[in-house]
Amino acid sequence: MYELLYIHLPFCRQRCAYCNFVTEAVPEDDPHMDAYLERLMRDIRAAAHAGELEHIRTMYLGGGTPTHFGHARLVELAYLLSLSIRLEQVEEYTVEANPDSLTPALAKDLYALGANRLSVGVQSFVDSELAVLGRLHTADQAAQTIRESRTRFENLSLDLICGIPGQTETSWQYSLEQALSLEPEHLSIYPLQVDHGTPLAQAINSGALSAVDEDSQAEMLEQAARVLGAQGYPRYEVASYARPGYESRHNTGYWTGVSYLGIGTGAASMRNTLEGTRERWLCGEEPELLSASEAAAEDLFLALRMSRGVSNTQLKEASTLLPQALNVFEELQSLGLVVQTNQRYLPTEKGWLLGNELYARVWALAEGS
Ligand code: SF4
Repeated sequence: MYELLYIHLPFCRQRCAYCNFVTEAVPEDDPHMDAYLERLMRDIRAAAHAGELEHIRTMYLGGGTPTHFGHARLVELAYLLSLSIRLEQVEEYTVEANPDSLTPALAKDLYALGANRLSVGVQSFVDSELAVLGRLHTADQAAQTIRESRTRFENLSLDLICGIPGQTETSWQYSLEQALSLEPEHLSIYPLQVDHGTPLAQAINSGALSAVDEDSQAEMLEQAARVLGAQGYPRYEVASYARPGYESRHNTGYWTGVSYLGIGTGAASMRNTLEGTRERWLCGEEPELLSASEAAAEDLFLALRMSRGVSNTQLKEASTLLPQALNVFEELQSLGLVVQTNQRYLPTEKGWLLGNELYARVWALAEGS
């Protein structure tokens, strides 16, 4: 029974310099997008007929850049979704947007068709940093788009990136303050990842740009946590901050082992079975099967992405499948990756920074069971 639905719209006007996502740079009148819409419509109708959309309670239109999909296409898609899903039971319906392609008219139509949350890719409020990232918008455009969206959307999320070449503690502070001045309900803060083969990696390798070192990037993440926390946005997940009550329900579903259906190129799906096993697959590919022990280890690791961590009760239940779970959590505690408080194991700042180590140690529980 799927509770989350993700629709992937893998098109952008131009590739950002750091982009390593599944997306294609196309002009707005590109016929590929018409053909893609046809496929999506067919797949959504098939899912509806199979009863797979009956229990959907959160939806997310992600990209790529969904707002570059074109006003008419996006409205057609949102219209079909409104007919295929019981919108009255949908608690959160997010559309990802970029400031260069979200118009007031599109925001109005998306809202009329059921969307209740926008996630805007701002990344920085410093134009020179936006240029380094290869973004197509300026800081002023981003601020204006957000203000205009307010006439419809009560729930807005902004994405920011830290560790951009040329970014300083002062310019990062400026971006955080500008973001706060727009009073979003939610902020996602990502460290810049420089992937091999991207134009940004090439510029760094050629010496045209200097990479921000890992320590400075870690300090910027801590700076974000301090600044946002002090302004009423507690960090509730490794990269997510929200005013209380505005934590993303869709993303929280991913981190708490809720079954999700992804439709579109590159979309991932996950289904829990009655036997406690788990199937996971990318659109069009064969499912990967996780045993009940692997699913339990994955749940523990995902729970540690969130500030509320793992309760003693959850750990005890997981121990029936993962006999070493308590020992491993005590070891994580001695390494300073988690702390125990109020009957829960909570991730520490160090644990979040060393996420791969945390993951490897928790995942190894399944291998040893
Ligand atoms: S908007 Fe996102 S998906 Fe599109 S090119 Fe930029 S980083 Fe990639």
